[in-house]
Amino acid sequence: MRDVFSAPGKRLLDRLAGQAEALFAFDFDGTLARILQDRHAPGLTQPTRDALYALAVKAPTAVISGRSLADLSPRVEGIPAHLVGNHGLEGLHTSERVMHQARECCRAWLKAVSDDEGSLARVGVVVEDKTYSLTFHYRQAGSSAVAREAIFHAVSTLAPAPRLVLGKAVVNVIPSGNLHKGSAMLELMHQLKSSGALYVGDDDTDEDVFSLPDERIVSVRIGKKTASAAQWYLTRQSQIGLLLRYLARARSRALST
Ligand SMILES: [Mg+2]
Repeated sequence: MRDVFSAPGKRLLDRLAGQAEALFAFDFDGTLARILQDRHAPGLTQPTRDALYALAVKAPTAVISGRSLADLSPRVEGIPAHLVGNHGLEGLHTSERVMHQARECCRAWLKAVSDDEGSLARVGVVVEDKTYSLTFHYRQAGSSAVAREAIFHAVSTLAPAPRLVLGKAVVNVIPSGNLHKGSAMLELMHQLKSSGALYVGDDDTDEDVFSLPDERIVSVRIGKKTASAAQWYLTRQSQIGLLLRYLARARSRALST
């Protein structure tokens, strides 16, 4: 894993920015926006918003988030970016049959965990219904270990068995299948006829993109982590504005030559 702001990293970014059909895709929480104690609070800072806007008007840009589209859209309002929600399930013309199945699946799971909701709430766990997936939040829990144990207990009997993806103080409960951020990224690149792409993320669900065996994708993780499949890292989330501005400038240069 190498620093994306190293000389080779910058060369790669310059090259990508020079490709007319390159796609620039970003996760939202922990990547474009800082993670906050209150999950409803995260938003773009004004400098990040301005920088994302500057890039999005010059190049195909996407935000691929675990949040539902209804939740994500107002947070990036006014930015001409492609939006994908629910870890890749929403926003890509996924077939109505698949969406229906995911919806029914989540409805059944919600019903099943409702018996546990009292005991989950007592240890500080909040269940979020995102229609096509569920998220168990435990950022407010007194003990993360106790909260996680309660969550695993609650989801262990769900049928059909979900795909569990751990995140920062969350457990994502997702209908199993081939829809995830990685497949969403490939579908988006296919739809946009992208010749290359950048993807920046910070969490376990982003590993679905980082681990794609696709050499067209430059993967960047927020924070260095040896176990990650990402090729590059950005040291801190607070540098995202810097990266966006770098890309927008490189793009302008490439377009003017
Ligand atoms: Mg994230």
